[in-house]
Amino acid sequence: MSVSTFVLNPTIMPRTIYLDNNATTPVDPRVVAAMQPYYTEVFGNAASGHVYGWQAKAVVEKARAEIAAMIGAPKPDAIIFTSGATESNNLALQGTILPHKQSVHIISQTTEHSSVLETLKALTAAGHEVTFVGVDAEGRVNMSEFAAAFRPNTTLVSVMAANNEIGTLQNIAELVKITRRHPGVLFHCDGAQAVGKISLDVTKLDVDLLSFSAHKIYGPKGIGALYVAPRRPKILLRPLLYGGGHEGGVRSGTLNVPAILGFAAALKICVSEMIVETSRQIALRDYFVKNILAALDFTFLNGSLTERLPNNVNLCFEGVSADELMLALPELAVASGAACSSGGTEPSHVIQALGKTREQAKSSLRVSLGRFTTEQEVEKAMKIIVAAVKKLREKSLVYEMMKTEFASPHGRGRP
Ligand code: PMP
Repeated sequence: MSVSTFVLNPTIMPRTIYLDNNATTPVDPRVVAAMQPYYTEVFGNAASGHVYGWQAKAVVEKARAEIAAMIGAPKPDAIIFTSGATESNNLALQGTILPHKQSVHIISQTTEHSSVLETLKALTAAGHEVTFVGVDAEGRVNMSEFAAAFRPNTTLVSVMAANNEIGTLQNIAELVKITRRHPGVLFHCDGAQAVGKISLDVTKLDVDLLSFSAHKIYGPKGIGALYVAPRRPKILLRPLLYGGGHEGGVRSGTLNVPAILGFAAALKICVSEMIVETSRQIALRDYFVKNILAALDFTFLNGSLTERLPNNVNLCFEGVSADELMLALPELAVASGAACSSGGTEPSHVIQALGKTREQAKSSLRVSLGRFTTEQEVEKAMKIIVAAVKKLREKSLVYEMMKTEFASPHGRGRP
């Protein structure tokens, strides 16, 4: 069935259990309600010199101050609004590196999101050098390798707070501490999957730059922010977009007032409900994983058991292709890789970075829970997945071979 068939049949959607909240989230109805008047009543251009503009500007500045306070930023103008975390990552990396006339060195790590990896590729093509530090079997950055990666011309470090595929949380505080042994090196963190889901304070963490986005936290798509620490001397960013000089000249373009307000409203709900919601999601997540692992052999969890986003599950079902499995699960909206790179044929670079094989990466499925995921949905999804994996394995030669190997005295054992 083609994508357009689904577009023409919206009635299919309510019957599909949405378990892809790491790709995006529905906008919370409370956020929609807060945004609504700013489309039709307070619709002014925030740069206009009349009452419509002044009202719009006041809304934007209130949202900026609220967002800044909620991530622990010392000043509202440390927040630059962008179109999302992809743009924020590009602005942080290109913006700080491109002004360098000489070749400089950047440190990152292997499981970053494509918006960081591809930007780093472009910077390498422009003559700069990047070291990608490896991760352990759970996806955590190898600290000694990281500490050894610094060179005299290192100017920037970029490490994500939480991984979008396997939910692994990085020890950002420790990574920043190591970075601070090298004065002048900036620390950028892609916080797209972390902000609003785990408690995060940019001042306590002492990061220089933090990217984040509204659509991962029940806010609208197409709005995000880059936090730029108010340092002395000022962190200089070369703009990606030139124009009217909005956002302190760093990001030109008419501000999306309702989306900015929605972003702040969405983050406010996440922060105020975080404690209750985190424990609810962790309980559901762990129940789901425990039952699936009990029901299926040759199945394992990718990533960490403990240092993990509350809503993320990523399971490898050996002997089964995740793409085939997804086709066998029309009742579920799940993912066989990052949404931003789906359609590609390469198995996940994240799962392979954990030391897993290409086959294991191709057999891995991401199930991400959200605010609106119910216990009944998790229960149903569990049963559907177990049945589908068992059915596909009936025809899987790889699975048969694994079972034989496991049964033999020289078998490699159950993973
Ligand atoms: N970084 C990470 C870790 C992400 O998960 C995403 C979204 N998949 C992005 C960056 C890009 O965010 P956006 O969709 O807001 O451009």
